[in-house]
Amino acid sequence: MKIAVVGTGYVGLVTGTCFAEVGIDVTCIDIDQKKIDNLHKGILPIYEPGLEEMVSRNVEKGRLHFSTSLAEGIKDADVAFIAVGTPPGEDGSADLKYVLAVARGIGENMNNYGVIVTKSTVPVGTAAKVRTEIEQALAKRGADIEFDVASNPEFLKEGAAIDDFLKPDRIVVGVASARAEEVMSKLYKPFLLNGHPIIFMDIPSAEMTKYAANSMLATKISFMNDIANLCEIMGADVNMVRKGIGSDARIGTKFIYPGIGYGGSCFPKDVKALIKTASENGYEMQVLKAVESVNDAQKEVLFDKVYKHFGSDLKGKKMAVWGLSFKPKTDDMREAPSLVIIDKLLDAGCTVSAYDPVAMEEAKHSLGDRITYAKDEFDALIDADALLVVTEWPDFRSPNFDVVARLMKQKAIFDGRNIYDAKELHEAGFTYHCIGIRTDH
Ligand code: NAD
Repeated sequence: MKIAVVGTGYVGLVTGTCFAEVGIDVTCIDIDQKKIDNLHKGILPIYEPGLEEMVSRNVEKGRLHFSTSLAEGIKDADVAFIAVGTPPGEDGSADLKYVLAVARGIGENMNNYGVIVTKSTVPVGTAAKVRTEIEQALAKRGADIEFDVASNPEFLKEGAAIDDFLKPDRIVVGVASARAEEVMSKLYKPFLLNGHPIIFMDIPSAEMTKYAANSMLATKISFMNDIANLCEIMGADVNMVRKGIGSDARIGTKFIYPGIGYGGSCFPKDVKALIKTASENGYEMQVLKAVESVNDAQKEVLFDKVYKHFGSDLKGKKMAVWGLSFKPKTDDMREAPSLVIIDKLLDAGCTVSAYDPVAMEEAKHSLGDRITYAKDEFDALIDADALLVVTEWPDFRSPNFDVVARLMKQKAIFDGRNIYDAKELHEAGFTYHCIGIRTDH
């Protein structure tokens, strides 16, 4: 089979590379000339564990190609994936201009039957719009080429994207014809050998499934953060409560860790977009509205603790920040809680010295020279009045606290991810604050 993947970001590049890995001929297309030039040199636009090796292996094998030319990429393709961004528009709805531009381009250039698949996260009704764009472009050319549209939302997690793609919990595909179903079954067959299910459904249901999944996950996070905040007020320990409820199989142990709010390129925009889709159709997503407002507030909780500890006089205090990306094992800074926390620290007159194992280059686009970037986690601590743990990178989980204490001016740790043991830190002479557990007694 031959496929094209349009958009070589976190989703497109992983999708294309994983299909190449199982022997399929793949062309990844992007309008960003620099990205494509760099990919030709083996330089990846994103950090994703294991991806660089996999890209170079498949390029060497001649199965993975990169191009800026849509015409070249979709020539003779059996399937074309649209994997470009769908950022939030000003009103919160998903902005479809990139998706529809690609659809138009496909209609202008396709030369044979193919299945055109939206892999981007798109609202219900988008596949129908994609179909119309392609039909109009074909009509303009006077071309009579058959095609199908399909919806195949992506569920990979940044930081574990390759594993998620190669060994998916499930593959969801929305189709409207038996021919498209057959093509998609054949394409995904190599990923289903271990019994992972491919779930075929109608296209609107597939489009909705992605939003429902992300909204449910965001709800778990905000719910748990709400419980954590109440635990702290009432003198309960949210870690105990988490274990207590997680052992109920109906609730489960995953995704119920309290913290400083969800970020990233998906949950915030997808929750917003679903609220908007509902309101445009006369329905109010009451739970999701609360999920969003709890999350906005949670991003400020760590700063509030700092403020409470130091009083209003934060001017001139040096804050060390460990972790900038929205979660570990990615360089993605989109909607990262670190940005909110650092803004608040800077507004209060603090200086910030930050360290992140991979996201510092990406962070410079939004933070510039307003903070200093340390050469490692210990460098960030020199003369710091406090340490704020913002992203739970494995590197930060078990530092030598004697060294930490020696480097810092004041021994205060604000742990936004609950990765340390309060008792151990108290014994080592630290003031320690975390989420959902009172540690000041
Ligand atoms: P991204 O911003 O990392 O990548 C998008 C890429 O598309 C960019 O490289 C951009 O240059 C390219 N592009 C834009 N217009 C183009 C055009 N006309 N032709 C060719 N290329 C074009 O985005 P992403 O994080 O990969 O997300 C893509 C989609 O997948 C979004 O809808 C997102 O919601 C969804 N998604 C993302 C994740 C994730 O973890 N990042 C997971 C599941 C689904």
